Amino acid sequence: MAAENSPRGKGDTADPRPHLLALLPDEMELRLQEHMAARGQPTYRVGQVTEWIYRHLATSFDEMTNLPVAEREALERAFRIGQPETHTVSRSADGTVKHLWRMADGELVESVLIPAGDRLTLCLSSQAGCAMGCTFCATGWGGFGRQLTIDEIVTQYRSSARWLEENGREPITNVVFMGMGEPLANRKAVHPALTVLNQGFGLGARRITVSTVGVIPGIRELAVRPEQFGLALSLHSPVEELRAQLIPLEKRYPLPRLLEALREFRDAGGRRITFEYTMIRDVNDAPELAPLLAEQARELGAFVNLIPFNPIPDQDWLPSRPDRIEHFRRTLDEAGVSAAVREPRGRDIDAACGQLRANALVQIEGRPRPRAGRTVVT
Ligand code: SAH
Ligand code: SF4
Repeated sequence: MAAENSPRGKGDTADPRPHLLALLPDEMELRLQEHMAARGQPTYRVGQVTEWIYRHLATSFDEMTNLPVAEREALERAFRIGQPETHTVSRSADGTVKHLWRMADGELVESVLIPAGDRLTLCLSSQAGCAMGCTFCATGWGGFGRQLTIDEIVTQYRSSARWLEENGREPITNVVFMGMGEPLANRKAVHPALTVLNQGFGLGARRITVSTVGVIPGIRELAVRPEQFGLALSLHSPVEELRAQLIPLEKRYPLPRLLEALREFRDAGGRRITFEYTMIRDVNDAPELAPLLAEQARELGAFVNLIPFNPIPDQDWLPSRPDRIEHFRRTLDEAGVSAAVREPRGRDIDAACGQLRANALVQIEGRPRPRAGRTVVT
């Protein structure tokens, strides 16, 4: 397992220049002010640079054409602004677009653009791989690579937004941390990345959702932030024993304590909680589980997403039958809980969590990375 890298550094290079997207907007402004002052440049240059970065999604200083060439070169010497290489872009017949990014050290990370009605949601990754080892998840089976840095998270947003612009598509309206990795196990990078997306790129906090498998300290940290970021809990079972079979982390952060932490999150005011429930045939879709799920969701005012299991290479499990999914939906509805059945998106391009990377690893390395240990300390 790779050593944890600094949230601001790159996992691979010794480049001393700070990446501008790894700085909080206030910090970035300050650093640019110092830089421009040291070069005897007028202060409006700072606004020009931030405008290029957050508004025009610039990926190189060369693009900043209203700055003198000497200033662009000086910026290049002082800071980084680049982005990972695009390894693959896959387009699904249903409009879903999946990017696989290749980090400078070769790690592969994916993000997915999902159009639905008047929304265009970007699903981004917080880690290369994941150490949580959930039994139904392709990323879990692929094992842990390393933490992503702040800029590696934020550039997924910037590159996706640019790709949409270049392809004449509508802009991103929502961001969910539901790609590879457990965002609340990489809080050092995810917290600043949330700030950069919100304050820098101007994406409303209520349009950003962090999905967690249940890292309680992370839920508490998110609850005390003043912004109203949404939280999705990957529940997958309303009973502890079954949940522990699907999610090793359940043993460390058991369901009753998790629900207590969610109550605190809800009481922090005005925040959305969603339950994710991946429905696996004859595993977690017994009819008697539905009222228990409904009760937990009702108590927290949570919205429930019922997601038919997307089969993965190392598992012979199947998605629940439609009548079972409908039974869950109806039970939730009758209990006054809002719920939606999420049709699998982008199946033809392996857009389920971790699948494109899993396939690419097989192609590149001949086999997936060895599975991570099941005990995770966060
Ligand atoms: N680690 C975080 C976020 C990434 S996983 C979390 O677990 O919440 C994003 C979502 O995809 C989770 O709800 C996860 O349970 C779901 N998921 C993973 N593998 C899946 C599969 N094979 N089929 C359907 N959903 C899956
Ligand atoms: Fe990690 Fe989430 Fe997959 Fe579990 S479901 S292994 S926490 S990415």
